[in-house]
Amino acid sequence: MIKYALKCAGGHEFDSWFPSAASYDAQTAQGQIGCPICGSSEIGKAIMAPAVYHGESIAAPAEADALRARKIAELRALRHYVMGVTEDVGRRFPEEARRIAEGSGEERPIRGQATAEEAKALHEEGIAILPLPLVPEDLN
Ligand SMILES: [Zn+2]
Repeated sequence: MIKYALKCAGGHEFDSWFPSAASYDAQTAQGQIGCPICGSSEIGKAIMAPAVYHGESIAAPAEADALRARKIAELRALRHYVMGVTEDVGRRFPEEARRIAEGSGEERPIRGQATAEEAKALHEEGIAILPLPLVPEDLN
């Protein structure tokens, strides 16, 4: 899995996971990646983000571990989401996504609705809530 920091034609930045660099190329070429904020499929790479850390801060070891664990949990949730076994939490989505990311909610894949503002806020908190790319089934 590789994480790219992406940017849409409208200037919105967001992160998304891909099985490989080639998969990113194929999916963007086919317009399968949509901006979570405005829905634009004109997507390009912003910068390449490290696979685990967000990179904007240098965390102390304990914090780094927690961050890493959170990212792994997040990725696991994303994987399940892609595999179509999500729980529909509807309008509680932003709240549930935060709880799961923070570890206070039961770790499970969810789907639901978020407004553009809610999606942006979650994104800024580092919570991945994206329209997900295809993921190969050999991840497990
Ligand atoms: Zn956008």
